[in-house]
Amino acid sequence: MRKINIFDTTLRDGEQSAGVNLNLHEKLEIARQLERLGVDIIEAGFPAASKGDFQAVQAIAQTVRNCSVTGLSRSVQSDIDAAWEALKDGAEPRLHVFIATSPIHMQYKLRMTPEQVIETAVESVRYAKKYFPIVQWSAEDACRSDLPFLATIIERVIEAGANVINIPDTVGYITPKQYGDIFSFLKKNVRNIEKINLSAHCHDDLGMAVANSLAAIEAGATQIEGTINGIGERAGNAAIEEVAVALYIRKDYYQAETGLNLQEIKRTSNLVSKLTGMIVPPNKAIVGKNAFAHESGIHQDGVLKEKTTYEIISPQLVGVQSNSMVLGKHSGRHAFRTRIQELGYALTEEEVNRLFVRFKDLADKKKDITDDDLIALILDEKLDTYKNFYQLCSIQVQYGTNQIPTAVVVLKDGEGNDIQEAATGAGSVEALYNALEKALQLPVTLLDYRIESVGSGRDALAQVYVKVSLDGKEASGRGTAQDVLEASAKAYIHAVNRMFVIEKMKEEQALAAQ
Ligand SMILES: [Zn+2]
Repeated sequence: MRKINIFDTTLRDGEQSAGVNLNLHEKLEIARQLERLGVDIIEAGFPAASKGDFQAVQAIAQTVRNCSVTGLSRSVQSDIDAAWEALKDGAEPRLHVFIATSPIHMQYKLRMTPEQVIETAVESVRYAKKYFPIVQWSAEDACRSDLPFLATIIERVIEAGANVINIPDTVGYITPKQYGDIFSFLKKNVRNIEKINLSAHCHDDLGMAVANSLAAIEAGATQIEGTINGIGERAGNAAIEEVAVALYIRKDYYQAETGLNLQEIKRTSNLVSKLTGMIVPPNKAIVGKNAFAHESGIHQDGVLKEKTTYEIISPQLVGVQSNSMVLGKHSGRHAFRTRIQELGYALTEEEVNRLFVRFKDLADKKKDITDDDLIALILDEKLDTYKNFYQLCSIQVQYGTNQIPTAVVVLKDGEGNDIQEAATGAGSVEALYNALEKALQLPVTLLDYRIESVGSGRDALAQVYVKVSLDGKEASGRGTAQDVLEASAKAYIHAVNRMFVIEKMKEEQALAAQ
């Protein structure tokens, strides 16, 4: 069996998804889970892009011990310097430096001749090797590049010390056969290529990202880049969980394996979906809600007689649980703390105490508290880092089929003042959001509103995601509560608070730059 390295870029390419902006704590939470999942490399961000990105990459490099942490860098010394500052405390510092190699990018974007591109690439790899033990070099838009030129530049950067060569299909244009052919061509025509790792990075514009990645493996790639749930620029990246499970289920064919702990897949997918607000479609392979649901009578009959008649993947393989009851009204603090630890969360005593109060409160209303409920509570508590901004104190909503929906909200602002407002609307959520908008005195526009339940049952927790815009800037937020209206209000306030944090960070950056 060949070992395929998994390079996860959920926090870099995935975070580039429209409307996704993760804060430092959320990125750390995802990085820790990726470590549990067992990815080989975490691309934590683009350190030179912003102060926020730099801090997140640095915090992740300092926290994660069992995988290599990397950051993206353009082929300029200041980017490489920033990346080294952010990554040097990592367990295995690694740089991901790139330059475009397609005629269209070189001519219009870089305004450089092919010779200048080679020179710049070689120089940047040489410079990076002064610091980094491992340097990955990427040929941006490789799939629309001239192949002999691609071979030449790769040979030169290998000479300069690159350890990994990545061949991205930046625009999601290639087909599986063609992609495999590029890898075969390079293996034949680049000197010393057997000494480095060859990597695939695919985008899903034509729905072929996973198929292309697997074709690359067949043609000799030893590293696959992708994201959890396939999130990313435009149509997204190759979904790591799909590549990993395909290799596992079809090992007879691919003869290759990843080091992933497949049982952590479902949990990782849930976490990424929750924190990014990117909901997983029910029919999504491996992690969708319906991925293991047999609906047709003939299929159900078959599965009941013998599972493998229609089931090629067992739900347990990827960590899908039957959602059994774990805790209830009579569970004590000890059982509660133990379960949190078993779920892999490290909380302070103070956080456990606060959470326990909320747990008891929930257990009074809901009979069975499942792992999913607990995780929703933990994330709500742990990631609520906006305590200095607006806080929701109470809401009251009146609704009847023959009444005008009316909402009253009470908020606390950053200075601790109470703000109370009332408003009406065509429906209860609209009335509530109108009241919140009046209270905040901000022209907030609601761009997206989605609701889903945590687990099943009529007493399930409600989880609401919103995306809002203010002065042309966007932020997303989420809220969890047993009541849908309370969850809606929380999500709205969360999004507005996040907007303020982003703005504050930008102001600090501007001040620091002066
Ligand atoms: Zn990409």
